[in-house]
This record gives sequence, structure tokens and C-alpha cells, in this order.
Amino acid sequence: MLPILARARPDILALQPYSSARMEARHASIMLNANEAPWAPVGNPDSALNRYPDPQPPALRARLAEIYGVASAQLLIGRGSDEAIDLLVRAFCREGCDAIAITPPTYGMYTVAAHTQGATVIEIPLLEGFHPDADALLARIDDCVKLIFICTPNNPTGTLVPLATLERLAVAVRERALVVVDEAYFEFARDAESATTLLAAHANIVVLRTLSKAFALAGARVGSLIAHAQIVALLRRVQAPYPLPIPCIDAALAALTETAVTTMRARIDIVLDERERLARTMMKSAQVLTVYPSVTNFLCARFVDAEKIYGQLLARGIVVRDVSHYMKLAGCLRITIGTPAENDAVLAALDDLSTVSPQPSL
Ligand code: PMP
Repeated sequence: MLPILARARPDILALQPYSSARMEARHASIMLNANEAPWAPVGNPDSALNRYPDPQPPALRARLAEIYGVASAQLLIGRGSDEAIDLLVRAFCREGCDAIAITPPTYGMYTVAAHTQGATVIEIPLLEGFHPDADALLARIDDCVKLIFICTPNNPTGTLVPLATLERLAVAVRERALVVVDEAYFEFARDAESATTLLAAHANIVVLRTLSKAFALAGARVGSLIAHAQIVALLRRVQAPYPLPIPCIDAALAALTETAVTTMRARIDIVLDERERLARTMMKSAQVLTVYPSVTNFLCARFVDAEKIYGQLLARGIVVRDVSHYMKLAGCLRITIGTPAENDAVLAALDDLSTVSPQPSL
């Protein structure tokens, strides 16, 4: 057994996993092993929706593995990377004694998953420039910490964590904790190297990828966890038997053809150009104090009065994310890069707000 697996919950390691009908037998001319309806559903007569989906559809698994440059056995597909975060916490953290470590400000679901499971959250704030404090982090790792979540590029700051930092963490906690590298925004970080390149040398690294961002499939809920095959096998024990709906599998396959990937790349070019245009123009606004550098499809910016800007953008039909309550992000809003026309609307709104003279008090 992989040494890091000994850190999983003993009851999960001992669990007799559920064996679904589709796992036991996938194809036959007469399928009578899953208590399914023998007819296609009303409303979708030409579909196979009366059948349970394949738990890990081989064609999708193979294509994702090819795109991510890993072996199929290293890949667990689930309902977005959110499901992967939840599975990791459930498989590794015992209620009341185990912990995760995070580097705020960062993605909020790590904490929610941990608290749902009754695990403790240890926070090691990012340093100036939103870089992780590896020394402080390692100083806080004790026997309770099972998972270290590092989001790179980080949401909501847009910053990339160097591969060398990830490797240093992985080496330091080798058989004690998993370093979970959340790469939800990886495709936007043009020259970055994925942490998947560290997997061969470090069995305690787990990488999360998603089709929700660059591949424009947030509504289909398809995410991947990439790790040593034994970690994937462990997590399958706690995953629901049929996590991926058939229409979502089909949508994912359609979004991953060669042509679709070419389109995705061309769209990223637009997003990156637009991000630079938005950042450049926003920096000239009297409303904006700082636009933080970003390698993602969003910008995090500090405003003179974030609450007022949020409200006034909303009044113009533009909703952005208020992240001003996050650690170190007082006065900040996170703005997703939209279409050029949508970004124009944001800039026009900021321009209007800068030129509006204060109302005289009566
Ligand atoms: N990780 C990060 C950093 C995210 O920002 C998000 C979604 N906002 C997720 C994971 C979850 O993505 P998914 O749609 O794949 O569940």
C-alpha cells in the first residue's frame, strides 16, 4: 500500500465498497441487472437515459487523461472539482481530530468541506503579493493535518504558486499529508507548468482540474482529480455510484474534440487580451486603488469604496463578486472577464461613476 494511504480514515480503508450493477457488467443485449426501465424515457425517446451511466466513462476518461498528460488510472472524474474536494476531506479527515491547511484568501469550499466533515481548518495567510508562506505553513503541520490545499492560480487573487513551492511542501510532508493543488484556472495561465508533472516523483500530490472554466462547461459539472492510482481507487469507495449524468458525459466529450480545444484556446486569447485591457483601463479610474496582477479569467481589484461600486454596478445590471470580507481583501471586488461588450459595460459604468459629481447635501 502507498504509504500516504495509511493517513486515510481507517474506516474508509476497511470499507467494503459498493459494487454497482454497471461496474459488474456494462454491456449485454438484454440488460436486467440494474432494475432500470426497459424503455427510453417519455420526452427523450431516442436517448439511453433509462440506463445508468458508466461510473467512470472510459472514452471521457481516456480523452481527459490525454489532455492532462496522465494515465487514465490516475484520473477520477466527478461532479466538478467541488466533488473532488469533498471526497478528499471525507476520505482523509476524521471528525473532531483531523485538519486541513489552507492559505487564505483562497477558494471557500475547502473550509466548507472541512467543516461539513467536522474537521479543523488551519489558516496560514498569504504573504505580501499573495504568495504562500511555505515556512509558516510547514511550521503548522502536525499529525492532525491530512490535507494541504493550494489553489494555483489562486481564486480570488489570480496569483500563481511556483512549482518549486509545491514540490517543497510535498517533500516536507511526504508520508503525512496530501498536497492538493487546485488548478481550476490553469488553462488561463499561459506559460505555467501543471503540478501533474510532479506526480511521478511525489505520490502525495493530488491535482484538481475542471471543465467549468476554460472549457465553458460549468453547467455540466465535470471535474477531474488526478493522483496516484491507489488514491483514485480509495476515493472511488466514497464516491456516489453514478456521479456523471449521461447528458453531461456527452457534453464533456463534445467540448474536448480537437476542434473544440482549438476554439477553447482561441477564446483564452480573447480573455487574456480583454483582461489586460480591463486592467489597464481600470487602473486609470479614480474609483480604483489597485488592480492585482492576474493569470486567470478574473481580476481582483481594490476600490476606494467597494460597497458603493458593487451597488452601482448592480444597479446597471452588472453583478461582480464582493470579496471584501475575505482575509486581506478589504475593499476588493473580483470581476470575471466577460465578452468584450460586457467588459465595455463595466468600464463605462466605472467611468460614469468617476465623473459623477457628488450630490450637494440639502
Ligand atoms: N476550485 C476553484 C479555485 C474554483 O474557483 C472553483 C469554482 N469557482 C472550483 C474549484 C469548483 O469548480 P467546479 O465547477 O469544477 O466544481
